[in-house]
Amino acid sequence: MIDFELPEFIKNQNQLIQMVAEQAMRPYSRDLDEHEHERPQAFVEMTWPFAQQMVKRDLKGLEIALNGRTGQNGNGAAKSAPTKPNYAILSLIMMIEQLSWGDAGQYLCLPHPMLGGAAIQSAGTPEQQIRFFKRFTEGEPKWGAMAITEAGAGSDNSSMRTTAVLDPDSNEWILNGEKIFITSGGLALEESDGVCVVWATVDPKAGRAGIKSFVVEGHTPGVTIAKAEHKLGIRASDTVTLHFDNARIPYENLLGSAEVRQKGAGTKGFKGAMKTFDSSRPAVAASAMGIARAALEFTQEKLAEEGIAVDYTKGTHELTAVERDLMEMEARHKGAWLLTLRAAAQMAHGQSNRLEASMCKFRAGEAVTWITQKAVELLGPMGYSREWLVEKWMRDAKINDIYEGTRQINQLIVARAILEYTRRELK
Ligand SMILES: Cc1cc2nc3c(=O)[nH]c(=O)nc-3n(C[C@H](O)[C@H](O)[C@H](O)COP(=O)(O)OP(=O)(O)OC[C@H]3O[C@@H](n4cnc5c(N)ncnc54)[C@H](O)[C@@H]3O)c2cc1C
Repeated sequence: MIDFELPEFIKNQNQLIQMVAEQAMRPYSRDLDEHEHERPQAFVEMTWPFAQQMVKRDLKGLEIALNGRTGQNGNGAAKSAPTKPNYAILSLIMMIEQLSWGDAGQYLCLPHPMLGGAAIQSAGTPEQQIRFFKRFTEGEPKWGAMAITEAGAGSDNSSMRTTAVLDPDSNEWILNGEKIFITSGGLALEESDGVCVVWATVDPKAGRAGIKSFVVEGHTPGVTIAKAEHKLGIRASDTVTLHFDNARIPYENLLGSAEVRQKGAGTKGFKGAMKTFDSSRPAVAASAMGIARAALEFTQEKLAEEGIAVDYTKGTHELTAVERDLMEMEARHKGAWLLTLRAAAQMAHGQSNRLEASMCKFRAGEAVTWITQKAVELLGPMGYSREWLVEKWMRDAKINDIYEGTRQINQLIVARAILEYTRRELK
């Protein structure tokens, strides 16, 4: 049974994050939205010490696991499920929700390994995790990113064209290609000594089996920021095109094994990298839920000022249209949030959550899109005005339907899992 009682340290963390969201995020929301490509300085300064602590906590866990490890699989991850739940996962999900309540675009600028860290955790050995995470505990703020998407290789990322070729003389990988729409790509690689996990093929003829992930470190020669995107929403977030022109990557920055298995013998490398989505999708869902809660609470507050609030004791036939809409907003929010918590709880208990990760991601993306549009609608012209943040939340919401697998792709994954169809049988 899933226990809904939060441990004390998460309750304390929630208070701290609430303060960050209210004091270092909301007051800058409009300004950062209107000045795209400016960095959320106050947020970064306030959160860097806290983010460092989070990574230190993860490192401590890794070192304990490494010293006392017993059975290992090929990637170095422990074979057996943890006996105690990993509350760090739940605390991260709660934090993402709260920071996104503050401002989703700024949250994405958290100086933390973020999506890059999820990829390193999924595909890297414990030694690699320790090596790459350590830099996030010292010095100036640093960022992590992950680059999969290419022009023509988004939903179907197995057709990616970025290549990694091993130079036998220097024992380095040479990366060539272009990745588009990479969150925090500029922050990770140009503005800090961060890391970006880049997916590339070591053997284009091998299809999925040839795809491997590589950790590219900040300021690597041959890596350039070709373009910074102008976006509909999450405009405080850094979204860039990365260009790799003979970028040399140390051999040991390959995550997992370099072995390319023959067709029909499994695609371990690609599957290992896909595992990233099991943790990143609940994280995206949590972010969606933060925006949804912001819109819902604000709408309830403004309507209450006009004397409009849901009377839960009324029969369905007695409810006004506005009351019905408010109840529908609450229901969609709660449903998607519970799915998100379930996927996170499964992770915390070391259980497989592939189906639930996709389920919560598409439900949360759908819910936040609908809820924020409803908020704009219910608040009339002021909902549409830039005086309030509701119209911004509506724009910020939509990305949750797009990245980490679009709504349609996650629905496909859910359908395949429930109906027991293969990728080939249900496209
Ligand atoms: C702001 C932003 C930040 C991003 N950050 C990152 C990042 O950090 N790293 C990264 O690697 N990528 C990132 N992305 C890229 C994002 O993950 C992709 O845009 C997304 O996966 C969709 O891929 P695509 O753009 O190629 O769309 P396409 O795959 O071309 O899809 C277009 C449309 O067709 C639909 N579609 C495609 N295939 C099917 C199918 N089989 N059945 C039904 N419908 C289908 C899709 O759902 C979508 O509606 C980001 C994108 C944005 C906009």
